[in-house]
Amino acid sequence: MFSSTPMLIQYQEIKNSYKDCILFYRLGDFYEMFGSDAEVASKVLEIALTSREAGKGRRIPMCGVPFHSADNYIAKLINNDYKVAICEQMEDPKKSKGIVKRDVVRIITPGTVLENNLLHEENNNFLVCITKGENSFGLAAVDISTGEFYTSEINKKEDLINEVLRYTPAECITSKTQFELDQLPNSVKISYHYDYAFKGDYCKKILLEHFNLNTLQSIGLENFPEAIKASGAVLDYLISTQKNPPGNIEKLKIYHIEDNMYLDFATKKNLELIQPINIQEKNSTLLSVLDKTVTPLGARMLKSWLTKPLVNKEEIQNRLNANEELVNNLDLRMKLRKLLDSIYDLERIIAKISFGNANAKDLLALKNSLEILPKVKTILEQAKSYLLKQTYEQFDDLNDIYSLLEKALYPDPPFSVREGNLINDNYNEEIDYLRSITRDGKEWILKLEQEEKQISGIKSLKIGYNKIFGYYIEITKSYLHLVPEHYIRKQTLANAERFITPELKEKEALVLGADDKLKELEYQTFIMLREEIKAFNFRILAMAKIIAELDCLASLAQVAVTENYIKPEISNNTNFNISNCRHPVVEKKLAEQWFIPNDINMNSDNHRFLIITGPNMGGKSTYCRSVALASILMQIGSFIPADKAELPIVDRVFARVGANDNLSTGQSTFMVEMSEVANIINNATKDSLIILDEVGRGTSTYDGLSIAWSLTEYIHNIIKAKTLFATHYHELITLEEKLNGVKNYSVSVKEEGDDIVFIRKIISGGADRSYGIQVAKLAGLPSTIIERSKDILSTLEQKPEQTQLSFKETEYKEEMLKIKEIQELKSKHELNTKQGINTKQDINSKHENVLKQ
Ligand code: ADP
Repeated sequence: MFSSTPMLIQYQEIKNSYKDCILFYRLGDFYEMFGSDAEVASKVLEIALTSREAGKGRRIPMCGVPFHSADNYIAKLINNDYKVAICEQMEDPKKSKGIVKRDVVRIITPGTVLENNLLHEENNNFLVCITKGENSFGLAAVDISTGEFYTSEINKKEDLINEVLRYTPAECITSKTQFELDQLPNSVKISYHYDYAFKGDYCKKILLEHFNLNTLQSIGLENFPEAIKASGAVLDYLISTQKNPPGNIEKLKIYHIEDNMYLDFATKKNLELIQPINIQEKNSTLLSVLDKTVTPLGARMLKSWLTKPLVNKEEIQNRLNANEELVNNLDLRMKLRKLLDSIYDLERIIAKISFGNANAKDLLALKNSLEILPKVKTILEQAKSYLLKQTYEQFDDLNDIYSLLEKALYPDPPFSVREGNLINDNYNEEIDYLRSITRDGKEWILKLEQEEKQISGIKSLKIGYNKIFGYYIEITKSYLHLVPEHYIRKQTLANAERFITPELKEKEALVLGADDKLKELEYQTFIMLREEIKAFNFRILAMAKIIAELDCLASLAQVAVTENYIKPEISNNTNFNISNCRHPVVEKKLAEQWFIPNDINMNSDNHRFLIITGPNMGGKSTYCRSVALASILMQIGSFIPADKAELPIVDRVFARVGANDNLSTGQSTFMVEMSEVANIINNATKDSLIILDEVGRGTSTYDGLSIAWSLTEYIHNIIKAKTLFATHYHELITLEEKLNGVKNYSVSVKEEGDDIVFIRKIISGGADRSYGIQVAKLAGLPSTIIERSKDILSTLEQKPEQTQLSFKETEYKEEMLKIKEIQELKSKHELNTKQGINTKQDINSKHENVLKQ
């Protein structure tokens, strides 16, 4: 294009291979950008756009950033959705003939960053990859800043989207021909990778090579073609951006979404598990109450626990027991938390070591962390609970790595790896020797200063050093008449003159020569030390996971103590009982009032669907959510805010909030509300817990009421999940008589004359009125409006037939039977599919017959 000078020809050749990136082209101490890259970058980075001679009198746009502060500029470009290709000089310009060889050494994309200023300590930085097969989707998620790598195969598209969002990916890759990404929110950054990287055989080869395996069977991946494609392609993307295999990724973990409690995106949002609905209210999340971790490792793990609670009884019980021990053993908990507090972010240090970016300060942080490990082990010796005992037994105190670092690393190294002071005394003989020369030489120079002062009688005489002249003797103007004859004048300043002597120069050559050699040798020795540590990566990463887990457990125990939580019992049947349950977040937010605790009991088939009525602001939502949160808390192994609890393990928790309650997300459409409800219907089972909060209110009263009504019937009759439905449609209470599992509850209010007072106690029995006008009065609506509303209400109440819902009961029952039959056919089909029998055809025709009847 504009390439007519040798340098620009080289630039253009490299740029052609990295068209989708901003190319940072190294030129001496700068990274330069040219052409359209320069135009874009100068705007984003707010730096001057200049131009450069491109031969034949033409000029091309150019801008540049100093290489030593490039990180900040790169961060800005990445945050603005650009990718950056770093092109370095591949040979010493002084030694090269002609144009210096250059090449791209790394491509930085949002999902592959390692720079501290682009990573958040408490967050993972996942790069996610999705593929689409005939019957399933593949998903892989990798975080090169921590070394975690997961993959899964997922059947339904909604589940896939949900799982992608669970990772809050920094970047999501797929192949252009593979996938329509229309259902992913705009916040997910999409990149396309080459089609060839998604081919099954290619992916298999990449994975086998990286993990040094003969077969994928050993990592349980053999029969999951889409997971192979997703994980192979994402690994290929990492290798092609980093230009190196990621050395900190040791394991690929295959999982199935049903291995954990299923929480869809809407549920996590509505229950405010991690993100607040109102972005400003950071302390309204469950995480904000629970996170008392003291390491970034623990903070990230706790977040991950919260998004995928356990469903395995033994694992839950083990965590609860470990938690109990830490609650009861104050000494163990306190000492453990204090020790963990001094441990740095081992995963991110290892990532830096793997990619050759770690400096001596990073190794020092590693050394200081490793120093703590034997003490942690000693503390754990007293542990009695299974999980903590097991941790003690598996505990690798990494003492050999610590000893190596202790011996090799300078105690107080600088950030720069080029300026010496990286390697300890007595580690390398040559370093010791060169160091003694420079130390002795420097002392000799100090001594010389004293001697020359005495001999010459010049009080102001001093020996200084600068890069241009080396060592010199400086004498102020007033003493110039005393300067000895053998001094050689070098430089004149305003107030002083600078001299050298042959003796001084001789020593200088020795000192500086040794200094340069020392710095180079220290640098080389440091790189070797870093490589040596790299060989221990996986042992350190395994310990990082153990530290994270201990931190999470101790944090949960700390919260249990300070917030007065109790250990729940895992119910052996389906009993769901909590006495005096509290909402962990709301109770902390109430400044002057007490939180009113409430019981919940769902113990039999006759008592599994609770309709909770009562006025707005009565406490219905808070109650329902506190129940959902209790289930989630128990299944991450946490104690819960209550006096006593016995809970069954639930496979899924769903929480749906009526559209109007959700205005702050800007998605308050009836459509969103209904698609979320549809998701429950498609995914809930009898072992799920469903929270419906004012569902149906996003449309007209009759529409909403009808939907709420039929939804209740469907969940009650077909799904049979334990459900709490908070609603101000008090008409729903009649369902208690029609459906045997339904029980009415309401939030109690005290009527004081014309006013109401919220008691916030959940009592048996439904509310027969909405108290809407009283709430409006409390909210401060003028009395004219209140009085007029009362008139209208009493007129409406005199015509009850207008609000009466009539159903053709027999028709409805028949319809229900049909749905039930289809449902049974479907589950039979699912069972058959699992056993490899294809009954889809039969099912479809039976399905049609049933519907025709
Ligand atoms: P509803 O769903 O009936 O409209 P909410 O559950 O949203 O009512 O409760 C409204 C407010 O009342 C909450 O924001 C909280 O401040 C307070 N509240 C709710 N439940 C309780 C309780 N059990 N104890 C004390 N205050 C409560």
